[in-house]
Amino acid sequence: MLFSEKILSVEPSITLELNAKAIELSKKGYDIVKLTAGEPDFSTPTEIIEAAYEAMKNGKTKYTDSKGIIELREKIVEYVEKRTNLKYGTDEVVVTNGGKQSLYNILLAMINPGDEIMVLDPSWVSYEAQIKMVGGVPVHVPLDEEEGFLPTESKLNRYYSPKTKAILINSPNNPTGVVYPKETLEIIANFAKDKEIFVISDEVYELLIYEGNHISIATIEDMKERTIIVNAFSKTWAMTGWRIGYCLGPKKLMKQIAKIQSHSTSNVNTPTQYAAIKAFDVDVYYMFKKFKDRRDYVASRLEKMNLKFLKPKGAFYYFINISEFGIEDSEFSKKLLDEAMLAVVPGSGFYKKGYIRISFATSDENLEKALDRLEKFVKNLR
Ligand code: PLP
Repeated sequence: MLFSEKILSVEPSITLELNAKAIELSKKGYDIVKLTAGEPDFSTPTEIIEAAYEAMKNGKTKYTDSKGIIELREKIVEYVEKRTNLKYGTDEVVVTNGGKQSLYNILLAMINPGDEIMVLDPSWVSYEAQIKMVGGVPVHVPLDEEEGFLPTESKLNRYYSPKTKAILINSPNNPTGVVYPKETLEIIANFAKDKEIFVISDEVYELLIYEGNHISIATIEDMKERTIIVNAFSKTWAMTGWRIGYCLGPKKLMKQIAKIQSHSTSNVNTPTQYAAIKAFDVDVYYMFKKFKDRRDYVASRLEKMNLKFLKPKGAFYYFINISEFGIEDSEFSKKLLDEAMLAVVPGSGFYKKGYIRISFATSDENLEKALDRLEKFVKNLR
C-alpha cells in the first residue's frame, strides 16, 4: 500500500478545497462570489513588503536559527509582554511557517500514539486532521449555540479521560466569532489544572475583536506553565501568503519544537522574518475598521432575512444556523453554489451540522452581491 493509514484517515482542508472549486468555476467564466476563505482582502502593507526587500538586498538570504532570528523573537516577547504582562524569554518562542505549523509542531512534540486532545466544536478544520496526522485521537466536545458556543464545566468533565493530554481552544473563534469571557477561561483553566493537562491556545485572531477584549488563558494564575500560545501574522497584517506565525510556551517544549523545525523546514524563510519585525510597527487600524463596518453590515442584512445567528464579537466570520430549511448543510452549500453562484463553507466542515460559515474578509462590493444572492436563495427555499 502506497499510503500510510494515518494520512488516509484525514480529509483535505474543506475550506481550501471549496475555495479551489469556486476559483475553478470562476476561471470557466461563471460569476462566482466567494465567502469561503478566511483571508483578508487587503494587500500586505507596503512597509512590510519593503522590509523584506531591504532584507534581501542586505544579504539576509541565508539559513537562520531554527527558532527564528533573535531580533524577531525579541520583538515578539516585547509585544506579548505589552499585551499580557507575561514575560517570556526568547528561548520560549519559536517562529514557524504560519500558525498552522506552530500547531502541528506542538502536537508532534506532545503526542504519543493514542493520546487524546480535546477540541471544542465547532472547531477549525485543521485541528482534527493535525491531531490524527501525529497519531493522536481528537475528542470532539460539542458546544451549543444556546450556550453561546461556550464550554461548561460539566461538558469538559464529560469528555475528559485519563488519556487526555491537552485541550485545544480558539478565541476569538473560527468559525463562530465567539470571544471567550474571563469566566469561561477560568472554567477551562481550573479544569486543566485539576486534571493536570495542557492548554493549546490558538490566538491568531486576538487583534480582531469588535466587542470586549482578548484575554489569553496564559494570564490566569498558574496557567503560563501549562499553556502553549499559537499566534500568527496572517490575519492581522494581511500576510497569509508569507507563512509566518509563532508559538510561546515552556522552554523545554519549545526546545523540542525547534528540533522538529530544524529537521523539517529548518526555518521560516529569512526575508519574511525581517518583514515580520516591521509588522509590529505598522498601523493596521484601517483594516480592522473595515472589518468592523462589514460585520455590522452583514448583521443588518442577515437580520432582514430572518436568519438565526450569533453576532460575532471577533474574527471575521458568521456562523449561520440553517437548520430551519431541513436540508443538510453540505447540500445547502452545494445548492447555493450551483443555483446562486455563492460559495460558503458548510458547518459540517467544522464538525457542526446545520450551519454555514461565511467570511466577511472580502470587499464591500462582493459582500453586497453575496448577500443579495443569499437573500434571494433563502426566499426561494422558504
Ligand atoms: N488557527 C485558526 C483558527 C485559523 O483560522 C487559521 C487560519 O485560517 C490558522 C490557525 C492558521 O493560520 P496561518 O495562516 O497563520 O497558518
